[in-house]
Amino acid sequence: MAARVALYPGSFDPFHNGHLEIVERAANLYDEVVVAAVRNPQKSQPLFSMEKRQEMIANALSHLSNVSIVTVSTLVVNVARDVGASVIVRGLRAVSDFENELQMAQMNHRLSGIETIFIPTGSSHSFLASRLLREVARYGGDVRDLVPAPVAKALGEVFAGNNDWSENESTL
Ligand code: ADP
Repeated sequence: MAARVALYPGSFDPFHNGHLEIVERAANLYDEVVVAAVRNPQKSQPLFSMEKRQEMIANALSHLSNVSIVTVSTLVVNVARDVGASVIVRGLRAVSDFENELQMAQMNHRLSGIETIFIPTGSSHSFLASRLLREVARYGGDVRDLVPAPVAKALGEVFAGNNDWSENESTL
């Protein structure tokens, strides 16, 4: 039987513990999970380069043997075709995510026939959003419990001088 491959696309700017939970759960459901960091032209001013995002995600997911990471700037359905994915996985935090996600799932299905599977986040991660984390880290908030260690380290470096916690991150 052919391996069941799932594609998990997102901006991941930066990757956080809510994303991590979705990848871990998807990796239990599918033979392979491909995490695709997608360059989103509608989000102007990214915090991290695509290369840095890929590096941080790879470090954060090194404990999962059936997960790989790609960076792309094309349609998600094209990436799914290229990596042989039969489903797209998306995480759902709250009803507010649903409208947009439904529209995207319907468009992707219309474009290529691919199905989208939604995984509801655990309540302990439902408040996490990359945009909010960027803002909190920018103004010195301690995000170490909210993101994987490589991401905390990178945020600490980017906003060094704004916080009093990143200097203690040297062991990461
Ligand atoms: P986008 O794809 O809109 O750029 P992200 O890169 O932040 O957004 O998220 C990628 C995927 O992860 C989306 O399916 C999004 O709903 C999901 N996601 C984002 N935050 C969380 C969270 N806290 N818990 C679970 N899933 C999440």
